Amino acid sequence: MTEPRPTDITEPSSSSGFVRKYLGGIFLSICLILVSVFWGFSYKANQLIEDQLRQQGRAFFQEVVLTRDWLAQHGGVYVPLTPGMQVNPYLSKVPGLKVVIQDRDGQHYTLKNPALVTREISEIAAGQGLFRFRITSLLPLNPQNAPDAFERRSLQNFARGETEAYGYVEESGRSFFRYMAPLPTKESCMPCHAAQGYRPGVMRGGISVSLDATETLAHMRENRFYLIVSAIGLVGLILAVILFISRVFIKDLKKAEAKLLEMATRDFLTGLLNRREALRRLNGEFRRGTRFGEPLTVILLDIDYFKKINDSHGHLVGDRVLQETGEVLRNTLREYDILSRYGGEEFLVGAVKANLDQAAQVAERVRLRVRELRVPGDENTTVSITISAGVAQLRPGESIDQLIARTDEALYRAKGTGRDRVVTSGENETP
Ligand code: GH3
Ligand code: MG
Ligand code: MG
Repeated sequence: MTEPRPTDITEPSSSSGFVRKYLGGIFLSICLILVSVFWGFSYKANQLIEDQLRQQGRAFFQEVVLTRDWLAQHGGVYVPLTPGMQVNPYLSKVPGLKVVIQDRDGQHYTLKNPALVTREISEIAAGQGLFRFRITSLLPLNPQNAPDAFERRSLQNFARGETEAYGYVEESGRSFFRYMAPLPTKESCMPCHAAQGYRPGVMRGGISVSLDATETLAHMRENRFYLIVSAIGLVGLILAVILFISRVFIKDLKKAEAKLLEMATRDFLTGLLNRREALRRLNGEFRRGTRFGEPLTVILLDIDYFKKINDSHGHLVGDRVLQETGEVLRNTLREYDILSRYGGEEFLVGAVKANLDQAAQVAERVRLRVRELRVPGDENTTVSITISAGVAQLRPGESIDQLIARTDEALYRAKGTGRDRVVTSGENETP
């Protein structure tokens, strides 16, 4: 009476978990894209500001070079010698150079060379808080023109062929953008610098420009801060939207999943478990039973002469009979027993933790209750039915398939010995 069963019976998988992972993946990708875009923005903004500072540094450098060239072309400039004014002691050492001159009125003038003029203009600019610049060299005539750390490094790099140096330097709590470029020796430099071994065209010094970038850097930091806040805000907003969508979506999905599970595991007509689910659960109980030594008994019930009911009252009445029988099973058995519609008018019950006698008693109770059923038939008739049942308890070393086969044999014997009865496996096995 049993039909072939699917052997691979597994737990249904959850698709809401998959959706969560999927949406999580989307969220992570969006976050990554956002972080790269914002980082790109911040990087580009910093670059633009640095470019601007470099341009400014270059422009100042050019201006100083032009001023210097003019001065060098004219061999420096004589300025009125005022009280307290220092005469450049290094120029006095240059042969043939008149460091102090006097006009006809007796006014004295002293020679200011390009390096000195450059330094003095720089001091005026620095005094006004504009910028600073210095002419410096690795071999300065005047020790005051000796390079600082940035300048020394830059000059060494120029000697290796580099044409520019720049970067941020911290000095007494303020940030400076420093720019430096080399200054090749020109013909006009030779009168003063020939003694140092300078040759025209050879790089021996450079001009460095310092721009106070404290405010600019503070703006850059502020800019970066706002970018990070905006990125966090945007990520939060996207997270909220994704969470909202996933909540709504997963709620609907769970409903659909529950419906699908119901459809996949229940018999539509009686609401009992279907054959596949009953076997899956029976296998679960089988594993638990063998592990903990608990008994497991199976009952197979079959409505007697059901075909006749269909034939004389029609299929709808037949369906009603099946539903009422299912209801009797539900009302008679325990909540954790496995109740299923096994085939057309055949029901399988897994009596969990029940031995043969206990299960046979339950089967007997079901038989008596089914007997009492009065199902409305066609044309004011009522239909009464009887059922036959086979009962078998799992034996050590036996499989579920073997157990069901034995139950089926008991049911077969119940049918063969007159129907409307319960037969347990083991009794009258050779009729
Ligand atoms: P027996 O006492 O030997 O069990 O005889 P029976 O007539 O009950 O057994 P049989 O296997 O000959 O007939 C079972 C019938 O059940 C045949 C089939 O048309 C009917 N059937 C199967 N599924 C359904 C269903 O869902 N609804 C209805 N109304 N009938 C069904
Ligand atoms: Mg039948
Ligand atoms: Mg049958």
